Amino acid sequence: MPRPRSDLPRIDLHCHSTASDGTDTPAGLVAAAADADVDVVAITDHDTTAGWAEAAAALRPGMRLVRGAEFSCVSPTGREDRDVAVHLLGYQFDPAHPAIVAEQARLRSERVDRLHRMTGKMAADGYPVDPDAVLAQLPEGASAGRPHLARALVAAGVVGSVNDAFATLLYNGSPYYVPKADTPVRTAIDMVRAAGGVAVFAHPLARRRGRVVEPSVIAGLAAAGLAGVEVDHPDHGPEDRALLRRLAAETGLVVTGSSDYHGTNKTTPIAAETTAPDALEQLLAGASGLELATG
Ligand code: AMP
Ligand code: ZN
Ligand code: FE
Ligand code: FE
Repeated sequence: MPRPRSDLPRIDLHCHSTASDGTDTPAGLVAAAADADVDVVAITDHDTTAGWAEAAAALRPGMRLVRGAEFSCVSPTGREDRDVAVHLLGYQFDPAHPAIVAEQARLRSERVDRLHRMTGKMAADGYPVDPDAVLAQLPEGASAGRPHLARALVAAGVVGSVNDAFATLLYNGSPYYVPKADTPVRTAIDMVRAAGGVAVFAHPLARRRGRVVEPSVIAGLAAAGLAGVEVDHPDHGPEDRALLRRLAAETGLVVTGSSDYHGTNKTTPIAAETTAPDALEQLLAGASGLELATG
């Protein structure tokens, strides 16, 4: 049964397509959003804007597309000396801004490099994944990620599912894990803003992926130009959501909610979490760049 339509738009601000590690094409992502009665969907592939045009062209009448990307970053944790990998969502920035073009190209190339190094380590232990075959399947401008490796391991019969691949071989800190040289998060925030966009800290307390930042770090980033924080995310429990909501109220950060949809690479359906319409309005008020694409 379709959801009874309410007057409030349904908004999902974090979704992946085949331009990175999702399984729906950009047009397929928009179709999935339409099928779930989503009115505003963001395409936020890792380190690329390659899916934007196809997604915009696939919008149905009445739908709107937020054009974004999820930037691979590093941040101090606010505790120990060792930095931690974090993700920054940039929205509505100019995709031709030279700093963004250069940094995203660098990160995609880091990803290719890392894919070769991870498959090399795995091959030494008898796990057969051909990196060039994985890369050959990527669309133009797409970024390679661990979920691509996971799918190759499933296809080779090594593991039963993408999730198993992460649990046994690909998790952060696994012997086969190879880090990449990500962007300092403050640099990424500056870059997104310089390109007319707004920046939101993605799933800052996703603890099951490993270490996370202290709340004081998020407060510091709010003072440095961060516009919002992803509070309602599948990897956040109720206590962390409450903590982040309080922190957002104290620091003026806009609260967002999103599914982090990856098609069949994850079990979360699109719009499993959503953003309030006034929160989206506040966010977009901070962007000086693009208009939202409309169907
Ligand atoms: P990478 O960007 O290559 O470091 O890979 C990280 C991506 O893998 C992120 O987009 C995560 O959403 C995804 N990921 C992490 N853990 C899992 C998991 N257990 N199952 C499926 N995808 C995962
Ligand atoms: Zn992903
Ligand atoms: Fe992420
Ligand atoms: Fe994501």
